[in-house]
Amino acid sequence: MRPVTDRDSAEWWERVARHEFAVQECDSCGTLRFPARAYCHRCRTRRWHWRPIAPAGRVESWIVSHQPFLAGVTEPYVVVMVRLADAPECVMYGNWDWPEPPVAGGPVRAVFAVVDEELSLINWRPAE
Ligand SMILES: [Zn+2]
Repeated sequence: MRPVTDRDSAEWWERVARHEFAVQECDSCGTLRFPARAYCHRCRTRRWHWRPIAPAGRVESWIVSHQPFLAGVTEPYVVVMVRLADAPECVMYGNWDWPEPPVAGGPVRAVFAVVDEELSLINWRPAE
């Protein structure tokens, strides 16, 4: 199953396929935001640009799924919610890619899981 992109997220997925880790930054008030949206939730400005940030954060929470929602994924699998180090207002979800379970508040780094030329996913592992 491939992610379904829309007007706002398509370019973000293209950047992930190039292994770029970025969030949107409002041109007016500087608010960082993720996931991608057409306008700033704080000041309503529609002008923004991509800002590369460190692919790092801390584990906010996680779930262990025992349901086979995704073809080719063996359950149980873990999905983590990560609060981004360079954009603390933003959280990102991704598969947990490590044998030991996540630790609440633990530092993590993103790894790009290459599916094919046009698609990579962002997974998370403990930071060294
Ligand atoms: Zn703004």
